[in-house]
Amino acid sequence: MIEICTIGGYEEVGKNMTAVKIGEDVVIFDCGTYLPVLIEHKEGLETGGKYSPQHLRKIGALPNDLVLDKLGWTKKVCAIVIGHAHLDHIGAVPYIAQRYPQAEILASPFTIEVLESILNDEGIKLSNKRKKIHANSIYFIKGKSGKIKLEFVHTTHSTLQCVLPVLHTKEGTVFYALDFKFDNYPTIGAPPNYKRLKELGKQGIKVLVVDSLYSGVDRRTASERIARNLIEDALSFVRDKNAALFVTTFSSHIARLKSIVEFGKKTNRQIVFIGRSLNKYVEAAKRVNLCPFYKSIRLLKYKDQVNSFLKKVEKNRGDYLVVCTGHQAEPGSILDRIVGDQTPFKFMPGDHLIFSSSIIPATPNINAREAMDKKLKKKGVRIQTDIHVSGHAGREDLRDLLSMLKPQHIIPAHGSLKQETPMIELASEMGYKPHENSHLSHDGKVLRF
Ligand SMILES: [Zn+2]
Repeated sequence: MIEICTIGGYEEVGKNMTAVKIGEDVVIFDCGTYLPVLIEHKEGLETGGKYSPQHLRKIGALPNDLVLDKLGWTKKVCAIVIGHAHLDHIGAVPYIAQRYPQAEILASPFTIEVLESILNDEGIKLSNKRKKIHANSIYFIKGKSGKIKLEFVHTTHSTLQCVLPVLHTKEGTVFYALDFKFDNYPTIGAPPNYKRLKELGKQGIKVLVVDSLYSGVDRRTASERIARNLIEDALSFVRDKNAALFVTTFSSHIARLKSIVEFGKKTNRQIVFIGRSLNKYVEAAKRVNLCPFYKSIRLLKYKDQVNSFLKKVEKNRGDYLVVCTGHQAEPGSILDRIVGDQTPFKFMPGDHLIFSSSIIPATPNINAREAMDKKLKKKGVRIQTDIHVSGHAGREDLRDLLSMLKPQHIIPAHGSLKQETPMIELASEMGYKPHENSHLSHDGKVLRF
């Protein structure tokens, strides 16, 4: 029997965590934070604040893995597998992994590097062994009842070295497919490993846990190559040599940052990245040799450094292209501080600001950005928004995934009922039956196969 506890991310977009039990062994997939509540509680991740796990649990920022205590699974956890380096998948590891000191943390080299940076920044020590596993390779987890075969299938998403973990057990294969898109023209790295997906489909998949975030959106998600064109176009619009130019994007989106730098160079401005989280992801990318633009930028991390630099930008606004954090108007982010008049630089009419991002569809984010946009307009800033393509599969990509993998059972994940119900409908279109072989879950529920 395979038992799956859908711990978090099944009633909200965030705090993803799933546990799979086979015999006497439990493998955890992902361990993420819920970012909207951090924004709501003004716990800006940029402020470098140190939070206690108890506090984060109380405000609902961590997945409720205490459910594993009730199930008697806690001591059986032998591995924590992380698919990629986004905080809604990795952010809770520093606060939760101590509960499973016997478990190895398994992830791609970039993901492990980002984890090390977070631990370092927050001053947290973890005794868990860490193991870097490359995409398209196999690792044997040492379980109580023997070795469990774990495979990482390469995929594309919106940060580096994203993988789809597959657990091959004697009870059948569990495929964990969160956060991916089928990008045939990625701007860093290779397209997804379609060949392996098809092979696995032929060999047989017992259970597929699948990203349903945009299962209700009739689309095929566009390639990052399109975002690259959008960036080129957006920057070509900036002609005023005396105006300030700021770009904000996801700090973890190294491919996007690469495009910003490449076309940014054509503006003849010095390119400067500011903010702690940009620093975290860019340095991690450099450590795994996946930061081709590192020599073309300056990277500023500390508040004093940033403030004295912003003083220079205030005086010579046309000399710089500033890449900064704060596209979701996160409290304490650089953009939040600039717009709130808390830095030596002040926006003036005619300055440019490019949002190479979309608003994460959660109420606190939507409200925070609305308030920020209002202030920016009052200051006369020329804003370009949605210079972005998503990293998540649309309904048609998901249809392709299901045709390739042909799983026996489907569990929609990465969202609430609103996101997961369309996945059940898509599955029904493809011959699956609700309750029989397509299963809606909720946080803390256990499904048995
Ligand atoms: Zn992601």
